[in-house]
Amino acid sequence: MSVKTSVERSSAIRWNLPVLPSDHLENVSAWGMAQEAVSYVYRPSTVEGVRSVLQLALEKGMTIGLRGAGRSYGDASLNAENICLDLTRMSRILDWNPDQGVIRVEPGVTIGQLWRYVLEDGWWPYVVSGTMFPTIGGAASMNIHGKNNFQVGTIGDHIREFEILLPNGKIKRCNRVENSDLFHAAIGGFGMLGCFLSITLELKRVHSGMLKVLPISVSSLHDMIQVFEARMQSADYLVGWVDCFASGSSIGRGLIHQANYLQPGEDPMPTQTLRVENQELPETFLFGLAPKSMMWRFMKPFVNPVGMRTVNAARYHSGALHSGKTHFQTHAEFAFLLDYVPNWKWAYKPGGLIQYQSFIPASNAEEVFKEQINLCRKHKEVPLLGVFKRHKPDPFWMTHAVEGYSLAMDFRVTSSNKERIWKLASELDRIVVKAGGRFYFAKDSTLSPKSLETFYHEERVQRFLSLKKEVDPICLFQTNLFRRAFQPLL
Ligand SMILES: Cc1cc2nc3c(=O)[nH]c(=O)nc-3n(C[C@H](O)[C@H](O)[C@H](O)COP(=O)(O)OP(=O)(O)OC[C@H]3O[C@@H](n4cnc5c(N)ncnc54)[C@H](O)[C@@H]3O)c2cc1C
Repeated sequence: MSVKTSVERSSAIRWNLPVLPSDHLENVSAWGMAQEAVSYVYRPSTVEGVRSVLQLALEKGMTIGLRGAGRSYGDASLNAENICLDLTRMSRILDWNPDQGVIRVEPGVTIGQLWRYVLEDGWWPYVVSGTMFPTIGGAASMNIHGKNNFQVGTIGDHIREFEILLPNGKIKRCNRVENSDLFHAAIGGFGMLGCFLSITLELKRVHSGMLKVLPISVSSLHDMIQVFEARMQSADYLVGWVDCFASGSSIGRGLIHQANYLQPGEDPMPTQTLRVENQELPETFLFGLAPKSMMWRFMKPFVNPVGMRTVNAARYHSGALHSGKTHFQTHAEFAFLLDYVPNWKWAYKPGGLIQYQSFIPASNAEEVFKEQINLCRKHKEVPLLGVFKRHKPDPFWMTHAVEGYSLAMDFRVTSSNKERIWKLASELDRIVVKAGGRFYFAKDSTLSPKSLETFYHEERVQRFLSLKKEVDPICLFQTNLFRRAFQPLL
């Protein structure tokens, strides 16, 4: 983020007179780089600092968009031409009980910071995303899920309580008993009800720093679902990679990874395997000859339909060779595979990427995802990467999870295909709505109010919007996502 560029851009956009000091103006980007916004960015490091940003917004008649690490793919933490309240400097561990595995953190603590802090005491977060960079505030706000959603639910299921700063400046403590409505609405509430100031999480006891990992190659989506159904009871984690280029009877072919925790006594050296330095991902590649920071440049020539068709096919066939052979991986290696290549998204420059993830009931998931993949092919926009997961419902009002499956598909965005991708996404939406499926705001870049109409009329969503009106009558907390997808429906 160059300050000079931001200032130049902002003045080019509209403002004659800065409402707030112009040295706060920055160009803020969605993680996928396909959307960006100019905002006044404030990065307080204390609760008082957060409060004074609230006060400032009220005085100047501006809105506030909350931002964690900015790891949502789309515009969930963008707030164009208004205030972006960045919580990354609120990153202190407030309390830790290593006997009970209960930790209280500020919202800007990242998943990476969290696991590194607790692992040597024999604990691991119940729920982590495929990257360790998100903050706990951002993760709670989207109610993130992991590769074990079908077993342990979402991160919200492991939040004991939180403190939230409401738009009126009051701080409320919320848990399943005290302010229970706010508890179930703000988790997954995409930063619309208030700002988390502290979050108390329960962690999972682990007896080793390693996981037992079993790769299983599957030749179709049908087989993928059969394997998930058969292994759901016994697996701690299950994740499927889907080759979206395969068609006909091979549609949805791919590779599943099952992982299981080690039981007490199975690891002869738990003190060593639980050490953080033995978990870390390697710094180099090419047999240690090149720093991994260069790796995205090697990927760039492949980030196109021809290159990715080849990479997907190679991955499928090499995966088949190792299918059924159990090996061991550290928690960090298994959980954060996507962090293996630093800044891999740069291979998608200049237009960036979006992800389309939908959640479909188990009964019709196979048919729906086949229809989606075929539709992408018809539009000549085959997803370059597909990831398949099993989910279960949770009690949070704005939940994305269903008793079923999700398929996340990555699309490269260029100036020539952008319109086509957005049109494709709205056709994919129609399939999801018809199938009784759900969407996920953490990944979304394209949803229109029309696609959200059925969701909008759900009783829990209506309760959420009433609560928003009650705690935030002037709509102080807003984001581009909220204005794009929700406001026209209100
Ligand atoms: C490579 C990659 C892999 C991913 N894998 C997964 C995955 O496996 N599972 C999954 O569920 N998600 C996944 N995600 C999505 C990511 O976990 C979520 O988007 C998460 O919310 C990002 O957290 P953040 O700190 O970056 O928040 P941001 O993206 O900055 O913000 C997310 C939301 O939280 C709100 N917010 C931020 N801080 C606060 C606060 N203190 N109080 C209230 N609201 C706040 C923002 O307004 C916004 O609505 C992945 C993302 C990437 C880039």
